[in-house]
Amino acid sequence: MARPRVVVTDFIGGDLEHELNVLGGAAHVEALAAASEQDLQGRIEDADAMMVYHCISIGAETIERLERCKLIVRCGVGYDNVDGAAARRKGIPLANVPDYGTEEVADSAIGMTLSLMRGINFLNRRLQRGRGEWSYTQIRPVHRLRGRVFGIIGLGRIGTAAALRAKALGMDVVYYDPYVPDGRDKSLGVRRVETLEELLGMAHVVSPHCPLTEETRHIIDSSAIAKMRRGGFVVNTSRGGVVDVQAVAEAIVGGQLAGAGIDVLETEPPADDNPLIRAWRDPEHPAHDRVIVNPHTAFYCEEGLEEMRIKGSENCLRVLEGRPPRNVVN
Ligand code: NAD
Repeated sequence: MARPRVVVTDFIGGDLEHELNVLGGAAHVEALAAASEQDLQGRIEDADAMMVYHCISIGAETIERLERCKLIVRCGVGYDNVDGAAARRKGIPLANVPDYGTEEVADSAIGMTLSLMRGINFLNRRLQRGRGEWSYTQIRPVHRLRGRVFGIIGLGRIGTAAALRAKALGMDVVYYDPYVPDGRDKSLGVRRVETLEELLGMAHVVSPHCPLTEETRHIIDSSAIAKMRRGGFVVNTSRGGVVDVQAVAEAIVGGQLAGAGIDVLETEPPADDNPLIRAWRDPEHPAHDRVIVNPHTAFYCEEGLEEMRIKGSENCLRVLEGRPPRNVVN
C-alpha cells in the first residue's frame, strides 16, 4: 500500500525538518508553497491530511475535491480562512493549533499599547525626521498608565494573557465577552461588562482578542470608535476584519483616536490603496506617526513557530494512526 500523503499547503517552504521528525516514519510529507487556492489544483486531491497556514484560503470547491483526506489542520488559531462547514459536510474534521503563540500575541498587544500610550513610537518617528521640539511637549498629554482602562473584547486564551499583563502594569482591565462563563472576572481580578457599548464608553485602549465571525466583523467601526473616550487607542492583533481601518484613519484625523496598533489587515499584504496604509505612509498625515503597523507577526517567535509545526504534525499523525484528532473546531 502507498504511504499516506500529508501536504503542507502554504507558508512553510523547503525545509520540513519538524514535520518529518514527527511524520517521517508514517507518511510522505510535501510542502506545496501555494500562493493562492488555485495553486492547489491537481496537488491535494489524494492527500490523507493537510496542514494549512494563513497565506491562502480553502473554500468549498477545493474541499469537495479531497478524495481521502482525514484531517485538515489550520496551523494557527484563527480558522476563518478554511470553510469549516464545507469540511463538515464532507466528513472531514478541521482542527486548529490553539496553544503555540498565546503569550506572544498578548506581548505584542501590550507592546503596542505601551508604545502608543507612552508616546515611544510617535516621538521616535518625529524626531528621526527632524520634526518638532526635542521635548516631551510634542506628545502632550500623556497620562499615567496605572488606572487607565484596558478594554478587552474576547477573554479567551490571548485575551486572558493580555489581561494579566495589563493588570501587572496597574491598568484597570475590563472585558466584554458574552460567551465566557460567569466568574472568570473574579478569578482573574478584572471587571466584566455586559455590553460592548459599556466597554467602549469606559476604555482608554480597546484591544479585540475575539475570532473573526459574522458577529465580530467590523465590531470596531466608526460608530464604535465614536463611543470611545476621546483620545483613546485601538490595538488590533486579532483579525483584520474585526476593525474597520478606514474608520481608524478618519478618527485619528479628527483626534477621536490618539493612535492605533495594527498587526492584522483584511487583506494581507494590503493593497497600496488601503486607506490606513496610504495615510500611514504619507509623512503629512497624522496617522504617519500615530499608527504602528506590523505584518501579522504578533504570533511569531522561533519557539512558537516550531511548536505550531510540531503540534500540527502530531495531529496529522494521530489520524493516520486511527486515533481521534485534537482541537476539532467544525
Ligand atoms: P480563543 O478562542 O481562546 O478566544 C476567543 C474569545 O473570543 C472567546 O472567549 C470567545 O468567547 C470570544 N468571542 C467570540 N465571539 C465574540 C463576540 N462576538 N464578542 C466578544 N467576544 C467574543 O482564541 P485565542 O487563542 O484567544 O485567539 C483569539 C484570536 O486571535 C483568534 O481568533 C485569532 O484570529 C487571533 N490570533 C491572531 C494572531 C496574530 O498573529 N495576530 C495569532 C493567533 C491568534
